[in-house]
Amino acid sequence: MSVLRADTVAIASAAAALGAGACVAFPTETVYGLGAVAFDARAVARIFEIKARPTFDPLIVHVLDMEMLARVARDVPPLAARLAQRFWPGALTLVLAKRPEIPGIVTSGLESVAARMPAHPVARALLAAVGQPIAAPSANSFGRLSPTSAEHVRAQLGELVEIILDGGATPLGIESTIVAFDPVPTLLRHGAIAREAIEAEIGPLLDATAPVDGSTPQAPGQLLQHYAPQTPIRVIESLPPRDRRADAAYLGFHEGAEGYAAQRVLSPAGNDAEAAAHFFEYLHELDALGLERIDAARVPNRGLGAAIADRLARASVR
Ligand code: AMP
Ligand code: MG
Repeated sequence: MSVLRADTVAIASAAAALGAGACVAFPTETVYGLGAVAFDARAVARIFEIKARPTFDPLIVHVLDMEMLARVARDVPPLAARLAQRFWPGALTLVLAKRPEIPGIVTSGLESVAARMPAHPVARALLAAVGQPIAAPSANSFGRLSPTSAEHVRAQLGELVEIILDGGATPLGIESTIVAFDPVPTLLRHGAIAREAIEAEIGPLLDATAPVDGSTPQAPGQLLQHYAPQTPIRVIESLPPRDRRADAAYLGFHEGAEGYAAQRVLSPAGNDAEAAAHFFEYLHELDALGLERIDAARVPNRGLGAAIADRLARASVR
């Protein structure tokens, strides 16, 4: 691990590391982010591993300019474009329809993606040097305070991150404001840009900022943030009798579940990050088959397995 003063040379090394699939911590005007190239599912899975998150949250994808945004989002509705024009670069995140190239691990399987054009010169220089959008949550470990200095990142994630770019204290120190358009403009999170400033630009926002308890999947706020498969999912300890497999799909860590109509193997090598990188795509693929049910093998409850198990448990609640 190295903490590097964010000069041109350090930014070039960080960009090379990102391009090679590593995770890098960098300053933005809100808080420090832990980033990976947004198209690199395996590297994004590592972010969750490093943060030791027991669950997957959709990440914010950082873009340099509107051209880069077009590689992330399929469509920018007129009101979103107005906000982008007014507040970008800046501490506003817009939830937009995602392009298929953005892997499910970035959006927790959602068809929407949260995107932001940061203003911080180090974040911008890094984006320019990588030439790719960077998916990044805050660079803290799960449940700890958001990091507003390189030292906070070092103290929390230390040895786990290859490079920490030190750009000094973050100017705002609180997270971005998040607005979705589904289809009416909706405030998902209060943040560094005041609701009033946004409303002055595009009129009243619906408010979906009430905290949502993860155990109540029917709450509207939760629907915004969690992909819910149509096909019933059962988490299984052992395979059902053969005659119960033909109309179902199987999702597991290892090969060898015979007799199912379809199966997907998360990681033949038993690698957590690979499994996490595949998880949402495979769930979507199996869901799309419209079978009777999905039998999901219980995932080992350690490391990233815990986050996968959490998503499976939520998806199987109905
Ligand atoms: P942060 O921890 O600052 O990176 O913020 C990420 C937050 O953005 C998540 O916890 C979600 O609340 C929100 N978010 C990201 N992507 C989406 C999305 N596609 N739909 C709704 N909310 C999202
Ligand atoms: Mg966070």
